[in-house]
Amino acid sequence: MFCRNCGSQIDDNAYICVHCGAATGQGAYFQKAPVDPDEPANGGFVALSILIPMFGIIYGAVEKSNGKLRAGKSYLTCGIASMIAWVVIPIVLSFFIFLLATVLSLLPLIPLMFSSM
Ligand SMILES: [Zn+2]
Repeated sequence: MFCRNCGSQIDDNAYICVHCGAATGQGAYFQKAPVDPDEPANGGFVALSILIPMFGIIYGAVEKSNGKLRAGKSYLTCGIASMIAWVVIPIVLSFFIFLLATVLSLLPLIPLMFSSM
């Protein structure tokens, strides 16, 4: 074959051109590593997916499209669950704070209720 970079004739099985060093794109070294769909999720990326839900959703979708079904699903699930938690927890918390504030603001009225009897 001929080098795509410099045009010199090189061995058909060469990984790189002996004349200019450019990669030929041939040979096992340049082929994509086989993807294991059952590869477990990376703990660091799981933590990141929980801290930054958008990261988990985007990265999970990318990994799934790359064939890493199990890991991608884990990141996606963590991202979505975390996003729900980021939305739901403040709503629930603010509801309870509101409830507590209401009860506390009514406490001074309790003696008045009894004194009027
Ligand atoms: Zn070359």
